[in-house]
Amino acid sequence: MAQYEKIIIPSVGEKIKVKEGQLVVPDNPILAFIEGDGTGPDIWRASKRVFDSAVEKAYKGKKKIAWMEIYAGEKALSVYGKDKWLPEETVDAIQDYQIAIKGPLTTPVGGGIRSLNVALRQQLDLFACVRPVKYYAGVPSPMKRPKDVDIIIFRENTEDVYAGIEFKSGTKEAEDVRKYIEEKSGKMIRKDSSIGIKPMSEFGSRRLVKKAIDYAIANNKKNITLVHKGNIMKFTEGSFKEWGYQVAKEDYKDILITEEELSSKYNSKLPEGMIIIKDRIADSMFQQLLLRPSEYDVLATPNLNGDYISDAAAAQVGGLGIAPGANISYSAAIFEATHGTAPKYANMDKINPGSLILSGVMMFDYIGWKKVGGLIENALKKTIKSKIVTYDFARQMVGAKEVKTSQFADEIIKNMK
Ligand code: NAP
Repeated sequence: MAQYEKIIIPSVGEKIKVKEGQLVVPDNPILAFIEGDGTGPDIWRASKRVFDSAVEKAYKGKKKIAWMEIYAGEKALSVYGKDKWLPEETVDAIQDYQIAIKGPLTTPVGGGIRSLNVALRQQLDLFACVRPVKYYAGVPSPMKRPKDVDIIIFRENTEDVYAGIEFKSGTKEAEDVRKYIEEKSGKMIRKDSSIGIKPMSEFGSRRLVKKAIDYAIANNKKNITLVHKGNIMKFTEGSFKEWGYQVAKEDYKDILITEEELSSKYNSKLPEGMIIIKDRIADSMFQQLLLRPSEYDVLATPNLNGDYISDAAAAQVGGLGIAPGANISYSAAIFEATHGTAPKYANMDKINPGSLILSGVMMFDYIGWKKVGGLIENALKKTIKSKIVTYDFARQMVGAKEVKTSQFADEIIKNMK
């Protein structure tokens, strides 16, 4: 077993292993957690109690999680010392143990790391950011029919303008790049420009789309949509679309059909067991999610589009307070609250732990403990419906009872049947 400098490996748990690409989960798996900064400890404490209670309820002591704390963000500074925002052994531990769940992390200002979340994604090659967006009855929403939204977004996580290749206006590097582009393409760039590069590869696009298709098949979804801006950015976003259709044609031809095939071959009636693959230009996709959300199940998107669409879609069903997320590779995965550290509420036991709790639901589904995920999700639904909620929902609901983060968790645990 790997030895770490500061991480204490639980003596009772066992490692989750990977065999032929599949997770092999023991009855007492070691799951790593990063509690997070700001309000992170508040929501982690509440969520952990919910997770442990649900596992106990589901398996009556036959299965139990062995939690292993790993460190990032401000807590890592206090444990490892100056500038150690993301210790190497944190990344190693996630690689060794496959699964981690985390609260929000402060983005360091200045220094070498742009964002801890981006660093984690890049170092572990967590190439898919997965964001399910659906409505829970009673959650305040700006939509007329928020329950029509039930989508899952697979956003490419490693490429695009987020690769961080930028040259600052006025530097020699920016000037060299500007001249090079002028020379190669004949296109003029203003002299005082900063320049960013948007790499999108066939490899990166195909593996993301494949992940989304596999999810659609495993979860009986009816359609998958490639979201792109290929009408303008033809070789990057346009290629994303082309590569996506290629994957569908080459690897899934017995299951996937295009919209064109649906009308020309199947008289617009989807045959049993088949899935439609379609594409939408990103700006139109935003409209579609507002006007005809029920026509979309799974979205596969490049990095930047996916970032915007994930938050916009979450807002449609009541905001980021309860939007869960995960960053996954072939086997390793980090499940995380999608909101930030909300520092002004730190240690007040106030904010909504729903995002982290629902990320836990995703995690339990991912390791095959669906019974646990189901118990938690149903209890959360019931709690919201009974209008016992944290301040963020209470201020928008008529007749709600406002409770603290910990009390909201108590209610969820009470409602687990
Ligand atoms: P934020 O922490 O998400 O908070 C902004 C506001 O959103 C809060 O003041 C609060 O609104 C509301 N909010 C967020 N989470 C909530 C929850 N669980 N329950 C209820 N309300 C919630 O965004 P920020 O202030 O821009 O960012 C703070 C720090 O977090 C920054 O360092 C940022 O870089 C980092 N960050 C980290 C992650 C991550 O780790 N995944 C993501 C985003 C940002 P009201 O004031 O209206 O009550």
